[in-house]
Amino acid sequence: MDYRDFRNIDHAGLVAWLKETDTSKLSELYAAAFAVKKATVGEAVYLRGLVEISNRCRKNCLYCGIRSGNTDTVRYEISDEEVLLSAQFAADQGYGSMVLQGGERVDNAFVSRITSLVGRIKRIRPAAGSRGERLAAPSLGITLSLGEQSLDVYREWHAAGAHRYLLRIESSDKDLYYKIHPHDDLHSYDARLQALYDLRKAGFQVGTGVMIGLPFQTEEHLACDLEFFRSLDIDMCGMGPYLEHSQTPLWVYRDRLLPQPQRLELSIKMVALLRLMMPDVNIAATTAMQAIDPLGREKAIMAGANVLMPNLTLSEVREQYQIYQNKPGVAEDAALTSSSIEQRLAEAGIPIGYGRWGDSLHAESRF
Ligand code: SAH
Ligand code: SF4
Repeated sequence: MDYRDFRNIDHAGLVAWLKETDTSKLSELYAAAFAVKKATVGEAVYLRGLVEISNRCRKNCLYCGIRSGNTDTVRYEISDEEVLLSAQFAADQGYGSMVLQGGERVDNAFVSRITSLVGRIKRIRPAAGSRGERLAAPSLGITLSLGEQSLDVYREWHAAGAHRYLLRIESSDKDLYYKIHPHDDLHSYDARLQALYDLRKAGFQVGTGVMIGLPFQTEEHLACDLEFFRSLDIDMCGMGPYLEHSQTPLWVYRDRLLPQPQRLELSIKMVALLRLMMPDVNIAATTAMQAIDPLGREKAIMAGANVLMPNLTLSEVREQYQIYQNKPGVAEDAALTSSSIEQRLAEAGIPIGYGRWGDSLHAESRF
């Protein structure tokens, strides 16, 4: 197959690849996706310092360990000063960008706090003598991942200086969506979709994604997810294996899941297929991949991913942000996380795009 045909690959073609088990064919697929990445967005991987600002969440997603119904989780919130320290660290390291992620809250105090934090992060400059200063890095690019908000809130946060937003559709299939979410207004599929449209309207570069290996999920669902990304014309994508958590309702289905290594393989396939379908988008190698295999993220990078999010959350609260169990790096601090990631990429011969925002070319061609 000519890999250029992938831009218009049809449903049956995607399903066939998702079911493919021939390892030599899969190696060819991954190599083709890597080559397309190199020729389109370049070989460099962009780092985004990730801060998990709080595990307080109004939602009750059936898969997530920090869902509001989990009373066994100790709730925390990182102070502004701590977020700014992490941002300074990212700026000094020359990361170019950071991500603020957390549970969903829509109260005014929360919204205003994020607006002011974004403004303060934008004013941070790399310290004298740091790599960030040597590279004359611009102000940090800011990605938010704080759930569904109103169009006005998205506009406010965008005006404050954030320019990318991650909101996974989780599954683009409505029936499957409702198997993994409660059936109420707070977890409406249509509202999630509207939020994705509103993000674009507010001026954000929009990222979405799905979990892979969910109970009840088939290759057909995943093929539809890839077609959904294409029809939504997304700028960025973050996908990763679903990981069961004992304090969630979906735990009862744990015996029906694909073995974890297969969930990872399916995730790598999804990355490669998306890279071939949408060559100029940004695709993340996610922490959930690393949870299954210490080299999971590197495998995704070799199959077309070009973004990595080193966790800069303070080590004291990391164990409370367990959206899934056995999350890697829980006992590490930011400096260790980042130095080990940078060292491993260097060992694999993968260049890092220091000192640049690393926006998706796809988004740049739109704006
Ligand atoms: N509250 C925000 C952001 C934090 S959750 C939101 O939901 O958008 C970030 C992502 O973690 C979710 O989009 C979901 O895809 C992922 N996640 C949650 N529970 C998970 C699990 N058990 N396994 C794998 N990924 C999970
Ligand atoms: Fe909250 Fe996000 Fe977890 Fe859903 S996935 S419970 S919105 S943190």
